[in-house]
Amino acid sequence: MNRDDFPILKRTIHNRPLIYFDNAATTQKPQQVIDALLYYYAHFNSNIHRGVHGLSQEATALFEEARETVQKYINASSSQEIIFTRGTTESVNLVASSFGKKFIYEGDEVLITEMEHHSNIVPWQLLCEEKKANLKVLPFQVNGELCIDLLDNYLTEKTKILAITHTSNTLGTINPLKSIIFKAHQKNIAVLVDGAQAMSHEKIDVQDLDCDFFAFSGHKMYAPMGVGVLYGKERLLNTMPPYQGGGEMVQHVAFEKTTYNELPYKFEAGTPSVGDVIGLKTAIAYIETVGIEKISAYQQKLLQYAVNKLSQIEGIEFFGTAPHKAAILSFNLKGIHPYDVGAILDQVGIAVRTGHHCTQPIMTKFGISGTVRASFAFYNTFEEIESFVNAVIMAKKMLS
Ligand code: PMP
Repeated sequence: MNRDDFPILKRTIHNRPLIYFDNAATTQKPQQVIDALLYYYAHFNSNIHRGVHGLSQEATALFEEARETVQKYINASSSQEIIFTRGTTESVNLVASSFGKKFIYEGDEVLITEMEHHSNIVPWQLLCEEKKANLKVLPFQVNGELCIDLLDNYLTEKTKILAITHTSNTLGTINPLKSIIFKAHQKNIAVLVDGAQAMSHEKIDVQDLDCDFFAFSGHKMYAPMGVGVLYGKERLLNTMPPYQGGGEMVQHVAFEKTTYNELPYKFEAGTPSVGDVIGLKTAIAYIETVGIEKISAYQQKLLQYAVNKLSQIEGIEFFGTAPHKAAILSFNLKGIHPYDVGAILDQVGIAVRTGHHCTQPIMTKFGISGTVRASFAFYNTFEEIESFVNAVIMAKKMLS
């Protein structure tokens, strides 16, 4: 499916055709996105917002068009609710820092889950340490589904925010966010969704979800590295203090008192990565041309095919078998270190990730140091999965 759009997939690694199954770490970029970057730097490069000259105004217009594209794509109610960041990590840090400064005090609780990526754990830990607040962790069951029946007990009158992943980058689990958010809101608790893994797997509608914040990274949805988004409800963002100080986020600066810019610029200090933002706009247009529903359905087929084939290997253990999951497959071979499997797969050109995937608490829960993780994108093929399964069988033979 549209494989020819991705020039890197024509590469070889160790003289073998590259089989790229590390899409949860970052997706590859279609030629259209690469061209958009080149075109921007060749024709429009200029600093934005503050230029009277034509080039700056053209670059500004492209940048603001990208904001509108993101707004429409995730169905935010206003483009003021779209803040460009460097990625999910910065988006989460922005909320932990700014929302935390304003709304979290000693004795309050922040709720996260046991399946969070480190970037949705550590910013909250830092905040809780600073504010003497308590970090609570909703556990998951052995199949990788959250213990939803415990949620009511974990959402207390002290909870100020729930920060939860949409889709686990290790287990693949897609969490039932609508009902979770509904429950949190019944108790007046704000919800931040880590959408890093969501964007390449399904259509996101932030108004339908009714989340208060939604964070994602461009590079996991065929866009360049260096750009991400924080969606936030306007009403909340307006009450929050700036995250970083600098140019662009101010209205008037005086040594006595500085006033801040309106949304979204209040949260966009300094020169943004303009070319990458335009690359994100192109990536969204690209996804819309292919069709996210089509992408999602095809990736599910790849996942099912891989699970069926791998299940036949004796001694394989899967981590994350929730019925509702994305095309992310973590496994180990009994008695074999995941790193060794990854190294052998690499020798035949297959790129998988091994290790803890920035989710060490998940590893602790299972009592393991890491897993092998294969994550699929719509440009992957059933033939690639065949080669991958054969290589896993070969690795097992070599390492047993
Ligand atoms: N959350 C999840 C679920 C992720 O998979 C990742 C990236 N692996 C992140 C957050 C962090 O994203 P980034 O490094 O792009 O900021």
